Amino acid sequence: MYAPAGVKVDSKVMPVPERMRAWVLGNPEQLILTDKPVPFPGKAEVLVRIDAVAICATDLDVIKSGPPAMIEGGLPFNKNWTPGHEYMGTVAALGPGVDEFAIGDRVTVEIHAGCGQCKRCRMGMYTSCLNYGLNYGDVDKGHRANGFTTQGGFAEYAVNNINTLIKIADTMTDEEATLVVTAGTSMYGLTELGGLIAGESVAVIGPGPIGLLGVAVAKALGANPVFLTGTRDARLEKGRQLGADHIVNVTHENAVDAVRRLNGGKGVDYVIECSGAPGAVNDAARMCNRGGKICLAAFAHDPDLVDMGHIVRNNIYLFGIRGEGRSATHRAEAFMRTKRFDATLIHTHTFQLEDLPEAIRYARDRIDDAIKVVVKTRPACQ
Ligand SMILES: [Zn+2]
Ligand SMILES: [Zn+2]
Repeated sequence: MYAPAGVKVDSKVMPVPERMRAWVLGNPEQLILTDKPVPFPGKAEVLVRIDAVAICATDLDVIKSGPPAMIEGGLPFNKNWTPGHEYMGTVAALGPGVDEFAIGDRVTVEIHAGCGQCKRCRMGMYTSCLNYGLNYGDVDKGHRANGFTTQGGFAEYAVNNINTLIKIADTMTDEEATLVVTAGTSMYGLTELGGLIAGESVAVIGPGPIGLLGVAVAKALGANPVFLTGTRDARLEKGRQLGADHIVNVTHENAVDAVRRLNGGKGVDYVIECSGAPGAVNDAARMCNRGGKICLAAFAHDPDLVDMGHIVRNNIYLFGIRGEGRSATHRAEAFMRTKRFDATLIHTHTFQLEDLPEAIRYARDRIDDAIKVVVKTRPACQ
């Protein structure tokens, strides 16, 4: 029976088994379905029964090459480690002293708890924790990033710090709840750009999940007009449904020329770069007006040549963001709960946990126009 010392369980509301199914990363690109003990929550932690988990492009990078995951100070391969970070579920057990949540609460999670004691964590920038990955052995600083530096969500249960949990309304489905953290990343980008974007013009480059929800969040914050550029008509059309005033297919038209022309020749106040494509920073800088601000939100794979002179001469500000700091995820959840936009438009496919490799194939190869692929751990009738 699952009964760790000091941990509160309620076998009537949420019986917890001793062991669970979990995928672990073997060699690069090798996922193995295994059986693990259900983990124990410590102080300020709860055990979450994972009900649904979305696949993120960063999961694909981690499974293929390792970073930004860092386990026990190194690469995450062959360490009995479970990836997956965009999950939601139900609180199943409470660590010692936890009274902020109750067993049975539906929650979605953000990824980074941070160490809570470094300079950046104290500023609310816990996704830039200075003790990233230091959560083991003699160097344990308590840093946690689910599915990056601690056990992740391609499993039936995970331990979470209470600071990473957001209660969700019963009106929000499991699938939609997995998208809160994606919208939270878009919200964090706009927060770092200054946040006061009502009536200001915004261009989003790249209609991936963060870009599409970047359009939705910018619109919900009052931005006008909002532009979205990309190569795939089906995704651009989703952007229009999420609030883009203008969409530009860059295979037909130069993105910079189109955005400038559609915004009176001056360029926009803000650009959110979500493509990570070669030349994207230069495009963003040329889409911006003088004094404009750019948020770089994509993990680009290769270094890029940047026209620094143009950026300096035009007093353009560049912000790199990682993840979802400053409690942005809570603000994103409020928008979603109050139906300010319909994030479910980007959820395209659902699989069961045992079919994770097939789900990953859909996400990676964009089979059947896949955008967000969600894996559920429980049969549909439950
Ligand atoms: Zn992600
Ligand atoms: Zn920290």
